[in-house]
Amino acid sequence: MTALTATGHLQPYGVMTHPDTARVFDAIAAHGGTARFVGGIVRDALLKRALVDVDIACDLKPEETVTALEKAGLKVILTGLKHGTITAITDTYAYEITTLRVDVTTDGRHAEVAFTDSWLGDAKRRDFTFNALYCDPDGTIYDPFDGEADLREGRVHFIGVAEDRIAEDYLRILRFFRFQAWFGRPPLDPIGAEACRKGATGLRDISPERIRDEMLKLLRSRSPAATIADMIGFNVLPVILPDLADTPRLRMMEWLDSTALSDPAIMPDPLRRLAALYRAPKNADDELQAATEFCKALRLSNNEAERFAAMISNANLISADMSKDAIRRDLYRMGADAFRDAVLLAWATRAAIPPRADSTENRQWQGLLQAATDWVPVKLPIQGRDILAAGLAPAGPQMGWLLKLAEEYWLANAFVPGRDDLMTYLAAQDTAKLQE
Ligand code: ATP
Ligand code: MG
Repeated sequence: MTALTATGHLQPYGVMTHPDTARVFDAIAAHGGTARFVGGIVRDALLKRALVDVDIACDLKPEETVTALEKAGLKVILTGLKHGTITAITDTYAYEITTLRVDVTTDGRHAEVAFTDSWLGDAKRRDFTFNALYCDPDGTIYDPFDGEADLREGRVHFIGVAEDRIAEDYLRILRFFRFQAWFGRPPLDPIGAEACRKGATGLRDISPERIRDEMLKLLRSRSPAATIADMIGFNVLPVILPDLADTPRLRMMEWLDSTALSDPAIMPDPLRRLAALYRAPKNADDELQAATEFCKALRLSNNEAERFAAMISNANLISADMSKDAIRRDLYRMGADAFRDAVLLAWATRAAIPPRADSTENRQWQGLLQAATDWVPVKLPIQGRDILAAGLAPAGPQMGWLLKLAEEYWLANAFVPGRDDLMTYLAAQDTAKLQE
């Protein structure tokens, strides 16, 4: 068995020191196994970030791990037994526990794995040096590829020969850029980047779901635009997502996320950034249709796709100098969140085109965002049944039409007219004439 040598120590915190976590480790130890934190959680702990997912590597075979955990009264879900992964569930956390494994065969998308008792073997099949970090519950670190130093220096380094590692799983190309955006410092590792350029067409066979997840994770990083520009420069994005091309606008959205805004309601948002980066293909005659197809191809959820398309169509209705009346109408129609999305996208669009906005214009944009924050949702004070009760129209299209008329009047008068005002207004209309 190939053991790893301890290389350092970190002070465990957060989920690492939670009693539930101790139960999981104790259960495995009681069964004669060794378990260690691995991957993201160790990397993030070294950076003292908030710890979210807990990945654990373990030298017991999956069935033994299940037995060990169940004997200790822990709930187990067989998430990916064939690949060696099970999940232990407690009231507070979910723990992904994976048996040490090596790849037997790979085809660029999937791997056939074999279980092993070699910690080094397990480390070698991981992607980047700082993702092959292991840590005991007491904080002892095992770092077989000097990942800690790479992390400190902001270097995203493939383990082994970059080209070969990419050919095993082309998704690693996107992971390379994702980790660059999160932890890297320019310049990109030239060897890794060149290998990505060479392997890019392999991404065409990767499932859209995996691509979506990576892209959204990348766009969640603080400043993804520079990395996105590299992905275009190394011909990675054009191969799979040629519509993600508007880096200048993404840069502006990034700037709005960070500096121009002080409203806590406005957080960096991956979908809004995706919309900023999106550019409808030149030959598309229907921008909205093209956007919807893009969302579908990227397997966004229906809710995400709707929000994405709404951002794009709503942004066309927004301008810095729009009237109070137009602001009110749009807020009423879109709701505060969609209006804010639309303003940010319109502002980013505007800011990406020289000449730069002067301070008056930027104040106007800020004012639009403020209007979204201040917005209190309102509801038309009358309903169809009021029209029915007053005998103004029978149920049916005529009633709907009167409701629209009342809404128009109410909107035009800044939501001031109340129920009685609207009924009086409707009663005074010559319905037959207006309908012509
Ligand atoms: P995060 O959870 O913050 O996205 P992570 O590093 O934990 O980052 P995961 O996708 O959760 O990433 O994977 C956990 C670990 O599994 C990684 O740290 C890495 O060691 C390994 N890993 C994941 N995907 C791959 C891959 N495609 N190729 C090689 N190793 C991988
Ligand atoms: Mg993880």
